[in-house]
Parts: sequence; structure tokens; C-alpha cells
Amino acid sequence: MLKIAFNENYIYPLEENHRFPMIKYELIPEQLLRENTCTNDNFFKPNKIDKNIVLLTHEIEYFKRFTSLNLSKKEIREIGFPLSKELVEREMEIAQGTIKGIHYSIKNGISMNIAGGTHHAFYNRGEAFCMLNDQAIGANYLLNEQLAKKIMIIDLDVHQGNGTASLFSSNPNVFTLSFHGKKNYPFRKEISDLDIEFNDNTKDDEYLDKLKETIPRVLNKFEPDFIFYLSGVDVLENDKLGRLSLSIEGCKKRDKYILEICHKNSIPVQVSMGGGYSSILKNIIEAHSNTFRLAQEIFF
Ligand SMILES: [Zn+2]
Repeated sequence: MLKIAFNENYIYPLEENHRFPMIKYELIPEQLLRENTCTNDNFFKPNKIDKNIVLLTHEIEYFKRFTSLNLSKKEIREIGFPLSKELVEREMEIAQGTIKGIHYSIKNGISMNIAGGTHHAFYNRGEAFCMLNDQAIGANYLLNEQLAKKIMIIDLDVHQGNGTASLFSSNPNVFTLSFHGKKNYPFRKEISDLDIEFNDNTKDDEYLDKLKETIPRVLNKFEPDFIFYLSGVDVLENDKLGRLSLSIEGCKKRDKYILEICHKNSIPVQVSMGGGYSSILKNIIEAHSNTFRLAQEIFF
């Protein structure tokens, strides 16, 4: 059965002015239940992650200052959310959703997280709404527990996975791949194992051609035994923070391609949702819901 991490804490700690489009964390499960893509049994509620698992990835001093609400004003400004006890708990629950998901992925082929994809979190700092890097924490956990030997992080959010790239820049066991808008945030990019950049307004055909040319090549070369997929839908046209122009259908083809290739090659995959900030809320919900619908169709 498809297992999806979700906790009502994913939304409520956020202040009113940050709830849009964070309201998606609530609307997506509602949509999936209403249309019978999922039942309540598909969802699991993550608790707080074990500190020792976080410390395989993040600096202890940073983690202590973050959890005791002692980040500097500058650090908090970089993160973009006001720091609170509830926000810390939320971040730790999201990360645990990915850790627990990993075990479901190994068992069932796939697991998903209604939030996560916090790829702008670095070793000792956070930025752009990311404080703890859930999939990086997951990758180090897999290696530490000897559950996987070679891990690929496929990051198709429109923004470069700069935190992830930096965290694994000297780790040969983790391959970081990022497809992103050339002119999108972050303006000073890190170096992933492979970065594919797109010009403003790139449309479905060009994007999907590049995807189909790249993915089999890197899979054959690196031969991962576990994949993290960051399925951000901020690649859509009309996204307020993205500069590409994929259609909802194109975004669905992207997800289908990735999930099918994982399934066909029997490589377990964990999916975190990442960004999606279209001015049309219905489009965000539809595009994210497609990822979950496809997971059900392809794997179960
Ligand atoms: Zn993004």
C-alpha cells in the first residue's frame, strides 16, 4: 500500500501570511481522499526525528541553536519564516516523514511525503523556508544504516538544490542531479554532480526531451540502489517563484517518466513534494495530486 507522511502540523505552525500556498499541505490530502485515490490508511503521521539521525547531516552547533530558538536575526531572515517552537517541531516531523518513508519505499517500492524537499538547507545554515534537509538526512541515514550503497537525488524542483549539492559535494556515494531555471533562485548556484539549466519560459517538449535524454544515461552510469525524487511543481507556467512554463500535463508526464523508470528498474524511491507557488491554487493542487495518482497507478 502507498504510504504518505502527513501531519496536521505541516500547516498550522505557520503564520497567516505564510499559509498561502502552504494551505496545499491540507488541500492535497483532502483532494486525494475525496476522489478515492487514497483512503485514511494511506497516510501515516510522523513524530519528531531522532536528533542523532539529523546530526549525520547537519552541524551540531547549528542544530542546537535552531532547536533552542537561538538563531541570529540574519539567519532567521535567510530562512524566511519566524522561528518558533512549533516551526522546529514541524521541520523535525517532516524530516521523520522522509525517514519513515524510506522503510516503506524499501518494502513497497515507493513512499511519499506531503511536505519536504527542503533542499535549500545546508550543513550549518538554512535558507528559503528550509532548515533541515529531509532528503539529505535520508540519504545519510541510508548509508549509515547500510540500507543502500549508492543513492541518487533527482531534484526537479524549479530551484537548484543548492543545500543538497553542497552537502554531498565530496561524497561519491550520493549523486545529486538538479534540473532548474537558470535565472531562478538561488542566484549563486552550487555545483551538483549534474546540473541541467533551462532558460525562462521553457516549455514541455524541450524539458521532457532533456529529461528522457539525461535520466537513463545517469542511471546506467551511476547504478543507484535508492532514489530520492523531489517533485516540485514550481516548474508550471504561472508559478510566482518559477520562471519555466510547463503545462499541468507536461508536469504529469515528467512525474510519470521518473516513477515508471524507478518501478521498471526496481529501485526504491522516496518522493518529497517541494515547491509549487502558482497564483492559481487549483493548478498547484492538481499538479501535486497527479504525482500521488501516478504513484498509485504505477506501483499498486
Ligand atoms: Zn522550488
